[in-house]
Amino acid sequence: MQLKHVTRNFGQGAALLVIEAIPMWSCPSCGESYFSAQTLHEIERIKALRKSIAVNRMVPVAAFEAADA
Ligand SMILES: [Zn+2]
Repeated sequence: MQLKHVTRNFGQGAALLVIEAIPMWSCPSCGESYFSAQTLHEIERIKALRKSIAVNRMVPVAAFEAADA
């Protein structure tokens, strides 16, 4: 298994929380990936503490449906 760091979005709109650099284990042969129990626990902790530990950044957001492909 390889350790990667990924970004995941939780919630939507005003409740959107982006967590960067989440450690994720990934299998190079079958593509299976998972977060450890400890990482999932930390994600829940970050979500619970978002008001005190999250930093607001202005981020351009595009809706896929609106993209003229
Ligand atoms: Zn595998």
